[in-house]
Amino acid sequence: MIVQRTFRKSIFLNFFIIFSIFTVSVLLYQYDREKDYRIKQLELTLDNVSEVAHRYIEHRNIFDSGDFRSLDTLKSLIPISNTRLTVLNYSGEVLYDSFVPEYSKLENHLSRQEVQQSLKEGRGSSIRLSSSTNQEFYYYAKDYKNYIIRSAAIYNIEIKNFLKTERIFLLFALFLFVLMWVLLHFTTLRLSEFIVKLKDFALKAGNNEDIEVLDSDFKDNELGIIRKQIIQIYDNLKKTKDELTIEQEKLYDHLQVLDEGIAIFSPQRNKILANSHFIQFINIISEASTITAENIFQIPEFERVVNFLDHQIRKQEQPAGKELSQLLYNIEKNEKYFQIKCIVFSDESFEIMISDITRPERRRLLKQQLTSNIAHELKTPLASIKGYLETILNNPSIPAEKQTYFMEKAFAQSERLTDLLNDISLLNNIEDAGELFEFKQLPLRPVIRDVIENLRVRMTQKHINCHVEVGSEVTINGNESLLFSVFQNLLENSINYAGENITVLISKYLEDEKYYYFKYSDSGPGISEEHLPRIFERFYRVDYGRSRETGGTGLGLSIVKNAVLLHKGEISARNKAEGGLEFLFSLSKK
Ligand code: ADP
Repeated sequence: MIVQRTFRKSIFLNFFIIFSIFTVSVLLYQYDREKDYRIKQLELTLDNVSEVAHRYIEHRNIFDSGDFRSLDTLKSLIPISNTRLTVLNYSGEVLYDSFVPEYSKLENHLSRQEVQQSLKEGRGSSIRLSSSTNQEFYYYAKDYKNYIIRSAAIYNIEIKNFLKTERIFLLFALFLFVLMWVLLHFTTLRLSEFIVKLKDFALKAGNNEDIEVLDSDFKDNELGIIRKQIIQIYDNLKKTKDELTIEQEKLYDHLQVLDEGIAIFSPQRNKILANSHFIQFINIISEASTITAENIFQIPEFERVVNFLDHQIRKQEQPAGKELSQLLYNIEKNEKYFQIKCIVFSDESFEIMISDITRPERRRLLKQQLTSNIAHELKTPLASIKGYLETILNNPSIPAEKQTYFMEKAFAQSERLTDLLNDISLLNNIEDAGELFEFKQLPLRPVIRDVIENLRVRMTQKHINCHVEVGSEVTINGNESLLFSVFQNLLENSINYAGENITVLISKYLEDEKYYYFKYSDSGPGISEEHLPRIFERFYRVDYGRSRETGGTGLGLSIVKNAVLLHKGEISARNKAEGGLEFLFSLSKK
């Protein structure tokens, strides 16, 4: 309703002012014309009076006789009452005045405007307040060669008279005004109705309400076209908005399933969106649990991001087509590793991405450690070989049996080197290329038997007794050479570390739908509890010197564990109560 009133009022007021100005202008023009006409009429009358007076003076030869007083007889003949008649000579002296009996005493009239004008142009006029009668007069002076006759009438053709005479015209103007007012009233009312409908329509469209309206509300005029245009713009907008919403939802869903934490910020550093990982990661990094996305700029670990953003803003706009500015760095917090990436877009909004790189980072560190361990392990046998060969080369006179001794030693070290390289390569293969091992249904008993046969001589030397309680029905989905390695390494370790006169027991103690469960134990001294948790680590040895003596690489149990894992099993080690080491492991049936 407010809209209607304001709109109508302003249209109405504008039209009203324009029409008022127009009416007043017409009236003023009319008044001016009327005034002109009346002055001409008055001038004509006064001219007539002057002519009559002139003829009278001529006829009676008054100028020569100087009997101007006889002009008084003319007074009754003059048509307009109160017409003043004055006769002047060229020097401005008053020769006669019909209003002033003592006219000879009147001041000189030469300076009067109408007199001056008549002397120059033959006739002259002026409107003035008479000093003698205190009324406004219209003076009309005419030059008659020898003297000037001036006639004057009271000047009263003012508004009063005009209003009197132009009453009909004024009434007509008033009527037109009222008519205009009524017309304006209805026109603006109708117009504002349309505008209000259009306003309601636009408001509904703006509020996403149903905008189906009757076509009859809007005729096929400009307003109808505006309405159609609004509907079209609204439809287009709605379509674009719907499409955008779908795209946004897709993007958001995608962000939620990502492993990375991602947040996008406006140039003012307000959050536009952030996925749950992002919140989780910044809470881990800040060691708090209530941090929101915007709080990231207060976390010390993200100071580099803040500095980077400050720097980017100072740098101002980037040249078009240039790559987006990026910041990339890693942080470590509570044994977890994160990669932080910040990308600034061309509109100065930016994205922060946090990736949990703990696993690959640990792997990298492990590999790094492994590489240095391998280098270290290889160095020892290589240095020995070099040493033996150098001794032989530098001492040509060395006795033959000594030479053989050194060469045998060097050969043994080269064997050790071969073992080491074999173990390393086997471990790498299990870890990185497990899929290359061929798996098939395999009875386990023959594999164990082959291992024992292989080590028979050494077992006999050490008086080792071996019991196998694995039935011929036990069939594993496995790889023969890996399973061979598992039992070979376990049995070799017992030979190497469990001492003499011992018993080894290999048994299947349980089975279920998916797995067979095995026990491997010896009756040796076992491993002290502090070392037990680490024996499956690469290159871990309980007693380094002893392990080297026996030719151990420190990789045996690592190979065992990784091979078991590749068979979808698990393995653990413990000391038996009655003494000796025991391994418990499972292997998958299928
Ligand atoms: P290595 O190649 O040196 O034998 P392993 O990984 O096979 O390395 O074994 C790791 C360590 O565990 C060995 O150095 C040894 O000290 C200890 N160990 C392994 N098996 C036994 C066992 N049956 N009895 C006692 N100690 C053992």
